Amino acid sequence: MSYQVLARKWRPQTFDDVSGQAHVTTPLRNAIRTGRVPHAILLTGPRGVGKTTLARILARCLNCDKGPTVTACGECDPCREISAGTSTDVQEIDAASRTSVDDVRELIAAIRYAAAPGKHRIFVVDEVHMLSAAAFNALLKTLEEPPARSLFVFATTNPEKIPFTVVSRCQRYDLRRIRTPEIVERLAEITREEKISVSGNSLLAIAREADGSMRDAQTLLDQVIAYAGSEIGDAQVNDVLDLVDRRVLLRIATACIESDAAGALAACREAGEAGLDAKRLSETLLQLLRDLVVVRIAPEQPELIEASDDEIAELRALAERTDATRLRRMFRALVKEQEDLAWAPAPFAVLELAVVRLATMPEADDVGRVLARLDALEKRLSGGDAEGGAPPAAASGSAPAAASRAQRAQASRSEPQASEDHRAQASRSEPQASEDHRAQASRSEPQASEDHRAQASRSEPQASEVHRAQASRS
Ligand SMILES: [Zn+2]
Repeated sequence: MSYQVLARKWRPQTFDDVSGQAHVTTPLRNAIRTGRVPHAILLTGPRGVGKTTLARILARCLNCDKGPTVTACGECDPCREISAGTSTDVQEIDAASRTSVDDVRELIAAIRYAAAPGKHRIFVVDEVHMLSAAAFNALLKTLEEPPARSLFVFATTNPEKIPFTVVSRCQRYDLRRIRTPEIVERLAEITREEKISVSGNSLLAIAREADGSMRDAQTLLDQVIAYAGSEIGDAQVNDVLDLVDRRVLLRIATACIESDAAGALAACREAGEAGLDAKRLSETLLQLLRDLVVVRIAPEQPELIEASDDEIAELRALAERTDATRLRRMFRALVKEQEDLAWAPAPFAVLELAVVRLATMPEADDVGRVLARLDALEKRLSGGDAEGGAPPAAASGSAPAAASRAQRAQASRSEPQASEDHRAQASRSEPQASEDHRAQASRSEPQASEDHRAQASRSEPQASEVHRAQASRS
């Protein structure tokens, strides 16, 4: 017997088998139970989430010898013929390859033939948005006056390309991307039945890669089985999916968080030697940073992260070594570098320097310290006003000198251990001081991120205004 691909072999045969689409299967079941199945149904959703599968299940439920029923027997002739695609009452056409008005006329002509007694005539049109305007017009007339016991099931990934006049005559159901845990569950069921040994982490990796598509997940599993046989190791899954080794990835992230640029470079080099693509590596690193931010901000909501319990515990431990603000800034910095990566002649070098940038990103504490210093400066300057301006001694000198003496005096009163540059800055006249201030802010710039700079410049006008106000008063 020839090998049947998993997606076909494990195609759901009943509503109960369909993963993650209860919001569609429940109303369809109810429609069958109450005998209110409409003449036209539009199923929308991304590829591989079960649109044509649902159309076939619906057809079997209606035409099963024991039907209409919500659980087709799967054994009678109509059930078997529909599954095999040989039923004369159920026709499937792929609009992607048959888009012309003639194709639709042929279809419409076929509708006139009555179905077998007690059965429905069902037309499943896949990728219906590909039909031409003329074809849609021809179809519209039939939708306006559908023959008795007929059902159109339209499936599409692009509902916005279907004329409104057609959509408005259909009962519309939007299928969703299937959640990763639901894909994992289905894959686990399949591998159990197929007697294939594979780890939960590998199934998770496959499900994540499938990005919401059950069919893609099963196709990937097929590829892994073709490569590894029935004993599948994690490394083999990594090979087939071209996955970045999680160990290496975590080492890069850990080094960045620990500000160990050399360590981060070494881990990058290792990934490069394993033949990993720079773009792929940076995308995966970006996803990891996203997970770290999420786990740091919402440690009690593991469902926000598509990872196993062990992986989440690992992420949590790593995220706790720094703060969410710094992680977020690292994420943003990497997003920016990613734009360069797409066009760079030497993408791996760009990635390496991006990683160095992450590893040399200052702690959020540094930003906090700068702000605290600005705050202290502000307080000291406005504190002088509260005490009634410059002390009498200042009157004897020239204005700037008096101001600087007064400030120095205030500075030492309010904060005896004030650092040298604080005092120096406070003692200078206004224009110089604010220039100096700016210079100080920009000195830390190469390492600082955007928001660091923004924060510094945000508080700057205020500080220099206070300064200016005081200088003019004295
Ligand atoms: Zn049946």
